[in-house]
Amino acid sequence: MIQMKITDRKKIALLSSRNPKSEAVSKELWSKLKEANFILTPKNPDVVISIGGDGMLLSAFHKYESILDHVRFVGIHTGHLGFYTDYRDFEVDKLIENLKLDKGAKVSYPILNIKVKMMDGRQVTARALNEVTIKRLSRTMVADIHINHVPFERFRGDGISVSTPTGSTAYNKSLGGAVLHPTIEALQIAEVASLNNRVYRTLGSSIVVPKKDKIVIEPKHDDRYSISVDNRTFVYDNIDRIEYQLDSSKINFLASPSHTSFWNRVKDAFIGEVE
Ligand code: NAD
Repeated sequence: MIQMKITDRKKIALLSSRNPKSEAVSKELWSKLKEANFILTPKNPDVVISIGGDGMLLSAFHKYESILDHVRFVGIHTGHLGFYTDYRDFEVDKLIENLKLDKGAKVSYPILNIKVKMMDGRQVTARALNEVTIKRLSRTMVADIHINHVPFERFRGDGISVSTPTGSTAYNKSLGGAVLHPTIEALQIAEVASLNNRVYRTLGSSIVVPKKDKIVIEPKHDDRYSISVDNRTFVYDNIDRIEYQLDSSKINFLASPSHTSFWNRVKDAFIGEVE
């Protein structure tokens, strides 16, 4: 059997948010990683380190989404606790030690794939780590929602969010959606201010859809819609339908002793200390 020579020199990309604290951590990390013989490069890295908060990790995900299958992410948070960030700003040395010992272990979570199909036949695809939210810009959005080929309901309201399991604690939670453990391979539909009265009716609660089921949303008016994919928003004006499904790729995080348990994160972020 031919044995591949595995180089120990990992390629690492650093991405930092533009605030003095994150930039200072980035500088420290840069010189310590160099000293430890890692290759620092933004091109085709093995590991991407994002320094900032969850928003920075979302940006790092989108910057490297074309190489998801062979890149791993790790986040350092320089503010309060984040959901995608395992290390605190004072734990740079600990991260470097873990990178030196690292043998490629990863923790993987599902991501969302959308296809926006236009009336003229064009198609735009995107991937989201948290969620995709559609809203009509001018007036009440009216849209048909199909789940696994079942014409489920006609929605009227501000918009609809479809989130990943890791995104369930983000916008989805503010919309009254359930918190999903990130290893559950499912998508969640949450309504943004639906109109519910004697004439118009939607389910009203959020819906958790399994991996095999496709969600389709068909806006009923030829109008301008905003489509927010995590932290970026796009505007389209001739959408025929949007198809949502779990992507065939996942996001990989560096598995390390510092990978905080999901339930601890949820508790720290939303509950705090209980007597
Ligand atoms: P931002 O800076 O306004 O961040 C929003 C907050 O969401 C931050 O506190 C961040 O830590 C938190 N967050 C992000 N991802 C999270 C996750 N998976 N679980 C728990 N909290 C999470 O905006 P941004 O940095 O550009 O991030 C965009 C994200 O913000 C969107 O993907 C959306 O989920 C979220 N958002 C939330 C609301 C809301 O709750 N009302 C509104 C808009 C956007």
